[in-house]
Amino acid sequence: MDLRFTPDEIAFRDEVRAFFRSALPDSIRAKMVDGRHLAKADIVAWQRILNQKGWAVPGWPVEWGGTGWTPVQRYIYDEEMQQAPAPQPLAFGVSMVGPVIIAFGNEAQKKRYLPRIANIDDWWCQGFSEPGSGSDLASLKTKAERVGDHYVVNGQKTWTTLAQHADMIFCLVRTDATVKKQEGISFLLIDMKTPGITVRPIVTIDGGAEVNEVFFDDVKVPVENRIGEEGKGWDYAKFLLGNERSGIARVGVSKQRIRRLKELAALEPAGGRRMIDDRRFREKIAAVEIELKALEMTQLRVVSAERSQGRAKTPDPASSILKLKGSEIQQSISELLMEVVGPYALPFQPEIDGRNEPTIGPDYAGPLAPTYFNWRKISIYGGSNEIQKNIISKAILGL
Ligand SMILES: Cc1cc2nc3c(=O)[nH]c(=O)nc-3n(C[C@H](O)[C@H](O)[C@H](O)COP(=O)(O)OP(=O)(O)OC[C@H]3O[C@@H](n4cnc5c(N)ncnc54)[C@H](O)[C@@H]3O)c2cc1C
Repeated sequence: MDLRFTPDEIAFRDEVRAFFRSALPDSIRAKMVDGRHLAKADIVAWQRILNQKGWAVPGWPVEWGGTGWTPVQRYIYDEEMQQAPAPQPLAFGVSMVGPVIIAFGNEAQKKRYLPRIANIDDWWCQGFSEPGSGSDLASLKTKAERVGDHYVVNGQKTWTTLAQHADMIFCLVRTDATVKKQEGISFLLIDMKTPGITVRPIVTIDGGAEVNEVFFDDVKVPVENRIGEEGKGWDYAKFLLGNERSGIARVGVSKQRIRRLKELAALEPAGGRRMIDDRRFREKIAAVEIELKALEMTQLRVVSAERSQGRAKTPDPASSILKLKGSEIQQSISELLMEVVGPYALPFQPEIDGRNEPTIGPDYAGPLAPTYFNWRKISIYGGSNEIQKNIISKAILGL
């Protein structure tokens, strides 16, 4: 197994790095470095820049706008984007529903939705989880009854990320309650403007509004909006969730956050010296860097295996290890970033446009505690870390 990049791959990395350096708007880069919230307009603007370059949907087949890159090139692209640091293209469209439509949708669905996903003309959100159906997703209750040429949907989804911006939601719904629970589920694409849909925000601990409840009351959905066969939605969902976890290690994000940690530690005083000169603090940084190096090697082993097989056919169960370790490392870094500013992490200073009170402490301290609290989510979404351990014990250790 060769974990080194070839000369061509290094040239590719330089090209990608130069593009991100020149094309990413400064205002977006600054928000990413500080850990401030991005507006919808930021995410849309950046994805359209990528799409114009032909790089918004690199993993898709070439006929639908993909780049035809190897798994190693894809890895390099993701890592460079995270280190830029630039926002990822909207995952709900590009890495979740897009690949499902490509693999299981019909031609009309592909033509209608895929170009709009690539250019983020439609903002998609994910309607899987329900109150009481998260880890045990197959127990979901949102009901879709067939009436002629449409379904009537009733029920509730929850934790629906950025549904407040969404034009479309992809949903798992129960179309048959009489069969085994996994067999009675279908996969529907639903226009968020359909009468009967209500979006209610859930305010998170950092004061943010990124998750929502979504209610469906007699929502009429044309049968042509169903993906694949009725009752096969669970198969499509498993495919989607495997893809969701593969990109979740976020090694590039952690590298960038460690760079930021060192920058801030060099600014912050600690007992007559700087935090970065404090040996115990440096040891904490080194410990997390070692974990990150090990994660990077694990990820490269997965990518290298894909390189030798050509393309990745199905998601590797090792994606569960990447998710588990990646989330633990990101959370440790967010904790150190808060520690670096000490008491200045304590005041609650949510981002308020036009705030006329001065910030307490340095400007860069404001977003650190909210990010720390917000990032507790990383070990929950995309399948909680306990569930990843169950997958590892069965699929990798054979227990
Ligand atoms: C910020 C955020 C954004 C999200 N965005 C979306 C979204 O856009 N769309 C969407 O559909 N969903 C979304 N989710 C939902 C997410 O997928 C679920 O929260 C997750 O699957 C866990 O489900 P739950 O919250 O119902 O917890 P539960 O399943 O009730 O789990 C509670 C606890 O029990 C543990 N547990 C459960 N079952 C087992 C088991 N068998 N073995 C061991 N431990 C177990 C879990 O690990 C957890 O610690 C989001 C969640 C968060 C936090």
